[in-house]
Amino acid sequence: MQAMFAAVSSRLTSVLMVLLACVTLALSGCKETASTAAVAPKAGASGGPKVVATTGMIADVARTIGAGRAQVTALMGEGVDPHLYKASPGDVRLLTDADIILYNGLHLEGRMADVITKMASDTTVVRVTESMDESQLRSPPEFEGHYDPHVWFDVSLWSKAAERTRDALIAKDAAGRDMYARNATAYLEKLAALHEYAKTTIATIPEGSRVMVTAHDAFGYFGRAYGIEVLAIQGISTDSEASLQDINGLVDTLVSRKVPAVFIESSVPRKTVDALVEGCAARGHQVKVGGELFSDAMGPAGTPEGTYIGMVVHNVDTVTAALGGSVPAEKPGLLLSGMVPPPAGKR
Ligand code: ZN
Repeated sequence: MQAMFAAVSSRLTSVLMVLLACVTLALSGCKETASTAAVAPKAGASGGPKVVATTGMIADVARTIGAGRAQVTALMGEGVDPHLYKASPGDVRLLTDADIILYNGLHLEGRMADVITKMASDTTVVRVTESMDESQLRSPPEFEGHYDPHVWFDVSLWSKAAERTRDALIAKDAAGRDMYARNATAYLEKLAALHEYAKTTIATIPEGSRVMVTAHDAFGYFGRAYGIEVLAIQGISTDSEASLQDINGLVDTLVSRKVPAVFIESSVPRKTVDALVEGCAARGHQVKVGGELFSDAMGPAGTPEGTYIGMVVHNVDTVTAALGGSVPAEKPGLLLSGMVPPPAGKR
């Protein structure tokens, strides 16, 4: 009886083991499908290049176009101000170890430019704005002969940065040419949809209210591309303090034009914007803070705003809602697919 029980039990065990093996196989099959379908790159997969980008916006482009091959790291994360950012010893190690360094240039990385240009003798260093037609770059008089670096807010102009990134990846890693080209084509299509979305959504703001007031002058390209006037307390860089005169001058404008809302920025302290609100209140004009915009840094990792497309959609929607326009309840599918954050640990 005991022998019979032992035989049955051992048979049961082997049946169970076979079943277990099947389940494991099925599970790993699922996992494989999921990771292949993901937009995010597998770090270092297929021997692709190590890419280090200064800002999150550039890293997001490289990550999307390099998906499947390139291992991409951003030096500056959420809420970091690139105008003031200095390279840490850890950054220098990452830069030294990189196959490709991507940066914005046009004096955006004011305190890092030297470190980056010094790397050019040993590493491929690419300024993603270099393929932009100079006639398309803003050259505000207050910036004394320099170009406005905030090019990512004209999405059609930023497409040039995406093309430059694609070309840099192909030049470094010819084996990935087809994949990079395919990824870039799909991404450029999404950027075209984003450009259209921004244009049509901003256009729903009543004409007299199409004015956005921010802490620093990051939205000049945005204003030009999408038809909204932009006023800022500080200039193109955050490197200088705003004066009382700057604030008072802007209060005059807000009061006389009855501007309903002003905006704070995730990478700039909000104290000057609060001073504007108080200044207006003292003059009997109630202006509200219309929300937080992502100007020189993307939103938190792992959220839609932590992608370039999601950041632009957030800004467009926030500005439109605060100034009396109508925000589309449903986004185009192409945009939704471009706002998927990479899985944790793959940034
Ligand atoms: Zn800026």
